[in-house]
Amino acid sequence: MNNNLNIDALKVKRDIWDIVDYINKMFTNAIDLWASDIHIEPTEFFLLIRFRKDGDFLLYDKLHVENISWMITRLKVLSKIKIDENKKPQDGKIVYMYEKESLNVDIRLSTLPTNYWEKIVMRILKQDESLINIEALWLIDVNLEKVRESLNSTYWIILVAWPTGSWKTTTLFGILKNFNPLEYNIETLEDPVEYNIEYVNQSQVKPEIWYTFSTWLRSLVRQDPDIIMVWEIRDKETAILAVEAALTWHLVLSTIHTNSAAATVQRLINMWVEPFLLASAMKMVISQRLWKKICPECKEVDVLKDIEKRKVWEILGPIIEKSELENVVFYHGKWCEKCWFTWYRWRMWFHEVLVVWEFMEPLIIEKESANVMRDAAIKHWMITITQDALLKAVLWETTVEEALKLI
Ligand SMILES: [Zn+2]
Repeated sequence: MNNNLNIDALKVKRDIWDIVDYINKMFTNAIDLWASDIHIEPTEFFLLIRFRKDGDFLLYDKLHVENISWMITRLKVLSKIKIDENKKPQDGKIVYMYEKESLNVDIRLSTLPTNYWEKIVMRILKQDESLINIEALWLIDVNLEKVRESLNSTYWIILVAWPTGSWKTTTLFGILKNFNPLEYNIETLEDPVEYNIEYVNQSQVKPEIWYTFSTWLRSLVRQDPDIIMVWEIRDKETAILAVEAALTWHLVLSTIHTNSAAATVQRLINMWVEPFLLASAMKMVISQRLWKKICPECKEVDVLKDIEKRKVWEILGPIIEKSELENVVFYHGKWCEKCWFTWYRWRMWFHEVLVVWEFMEPLIIEKESANVMRDAAIKHWMITITQDALLKAVLWETTVEEALKLI
């Protein structure tokens, strides 16, 4: 965490115009940094403002607690929620004009009463949906080709995303935008709908009125869909309906909580999906992990330790010629103002793409362990997630140190 405080900010700000300007600057700074969330946390004497950036917290500012009522009121006004309600949690949304890119940025705001005032967390949904596409997912060429090929079929494709929560949206929509919605009937059920995509029939889960993934999937039959996106497989019923949809000639995209591509099969069998149906319905599991990308401004040559070198050779040995590996130069970030002295800027994904070729089918039917499936997939040229990460280190996108953390 960066502990350099902005001393000027400790001065009490009483002037509302000052607060307006302050909040605008805060949003701009957060978006510049690609922070995912802004936390506004009142304590007894201070108001802490922290950004979550690439999974970690950065202390953005520390203000005198006297600023809090201005701050909360202003944010409540912007997000159109009740100003006088401070006993119950509230949710709202702010649309902020990010002038540098003339982009409207959606910021989802949530308040929660605490011992000291209300705490506010804002999730920044920066990406302009027009920028989301399959090329922007950091898939290495061989995996991009596999994904593209699988999309030409009517099967079930599952994404395993980690950490859970945000960012799977980007991948799902990246894949979805491969299709022209005017040529297909695309139906999605999301939780929540974060981006609106033209000509895609998007719907939002409403558990309070029993509008869930399974009720939606059942009524879709009469909506003549081609491509179905189920936001998340959470229960047996949804899993079974998704398999049925794939077996009746639909392309089904969905996500599930598991640790790896291979573990997904076990998870689904544990949800009582028939293994033989699963073997014929499932086409691909993409496992992805969000990771740190080197700051391009302060990048410098990395001298690997012997132990790192040995591991790199051991992991990349099966897929890269020894002579080529000898000449590879690795990089790491140092620190600079652009990355807030953290060495990294932005995030990217590491992937493991498991295609259910014919050799996988008997393994699924026999309910083999995740390890057996994984080994078989590696024999059939699956790039493991660690290999993928190290390949990205070869391409100067991440450091060897970060890639080896996956082991
Ligand atoms: Zn830097």
